[in-house]
Amino acid sequence: MKSDLTIVGFGIIGAMIANTLSDYINDITIIYKYNDKKSASYHSFAWINAFDKSPHYYNKLNLDSMHLWHDLYKNNFVSDSEIKFGGDLRLYENSNKIDNLHKLINSENNHGIKFLEIHKAKNDENNLLLDNFNYAIESEYDGWVDTDALINKIKKKLVTKRNIKFINAEVKNAISKDNNVKYLELDDRHNTKISSEMFLFAAGFQTSKIASMLGIYLPQIISPGIVISSKPTNKVLNKYSSINLISENHIPHIHFRQNQDNQIICGIGSQDDSQFINPKEFTLNLYAELSKYVKQKIKYSGYKYGLRVMPKDGLPIIGLCENSNVYIVMTHSGVTLAPILAQIIKSEIVDKQLVSEIDFYRMKRFYK
Ligand SMILES: Cc1cc2nc3c(=O)[nH]c(=O)nc-3n(C[C@H](O)[C@H](O)[C@H](O)COP(=O)(O)OP(=O)(O)OC[C@H]3O[C@@H](n4cnc5c(N)ncnc54)[C@H](O)[C@@H]3O)c2cc1C
Repeated sequence: MKSDLTIVGFGIIGAMIANTLSDYINDITIIYKYNDKKSASYHSFAWINAFDKSPHYYNKLNLDSMHLWHDLYKNNFVSDSEIKFGGDLRLYENSNKIDNLHKLINSENNHGIKFLEIHKAKNDENNLLLDNFNYAIESEYDGWVDTDALINKIKKKLVTKRNIKFINAEVKNAISKDNNVKYLELDDRHNTKISSEMFLFAAGFQTSKIASMLGIYLPQIISPGIVISSKPTNKVLNKYSSINLISENHIPHIHFRQNQDNQIICGIGSQDDSQFINPKEFTLNLYAELSKYVKQKIKYSGYKYGLRVMPKDGLPIIGLCENSNVYIVMTHSGVTLAPILAQIIKSEIVDKQLVSEIDFYRMKRFYK
């Protein structure tokens, strides 16, 4: 049977897109690897933010999407079990970045960030040891998503819909003719072939590999990222949903948050780390760094070390492949961007309206 649309991938982006499109498209097949512990959504720090993201149109895309997360919360699509708002508190030890921050705050890239009286910040988060920090910034719209919880919630909803079919398998090959995918071959027991009017690839890091089966080149940087977690602890954060600390230490930028189970989740702040590390060794250093700032004793629980989805120029790759039935969506900051991507893709696929906002992100930029 030929479906109207096949979506490959059910990470945060595939799930949010499928959820939106399921209201408009008659017959959707979703192919994904069940319980995929390699997906970026599983590894993510999942902070909803637009901080210092550039160029300005990319900053705006993130900011618009952040507001959509707030709308989704107000409309009860996401609840406290899947999302936490509260804003981000960002503290600096030294003044060397402060001039740039003044520029940022006065620029069009400002998204509700402002300087804060340092004493007030320390008072608000008085379970933390922040003596070394001298400057504070607050980003009021920031939050974070429990990606596993939200993906599972969307799955539970979609399995009840008659127009949606889930297939738990890996796409092994894509067979095309004249730029159009004719069918996908799966690695299941039956070597099932999936045909469809249209194919949407939201397979995270693996999107490049699937696209290459069709002769489409989607360049990516290898960008491993690490996140550690503590054992559940008392409530540490009083006000903010996340904290960023920028110091002169060996690990100069960490960020952390506390999840619904009161585990502290901590990652390194820089998102452009392209070096592989020894995760076991590094987690100990990261845990030691985190422990410096939390008054109560915290116990280490474990780490996740995985690949970001990182297009070569750091910007999303979104859009229809020219003269083809293949739509691609592949991006870093996918947790922040998932709601706006779902909305844009609905306009392009269902309403057949090209969205000029994503012209910067079309894949033809790599073929100039
Ligand atoms: C350490 C780390 C920290 C991050 N921090 C943040 C952050 O703070 N804020 C933020 O906004 N973003 C953050 N990100 C980025 C964000 O997590 C990703 O951009 C986002 O999760 C990408 O979602 P996705 O659905 O595109 O891909 P993924 O989550 O990778 O999902 C891919 C899906 O495709 C499926 N798939 C893959 N290959 C195949 C195949 N061959 N056949 C069938 N199915 C397949 C998988 O099973 C999975 O369902 C972080 C990422 C990492 C790794």
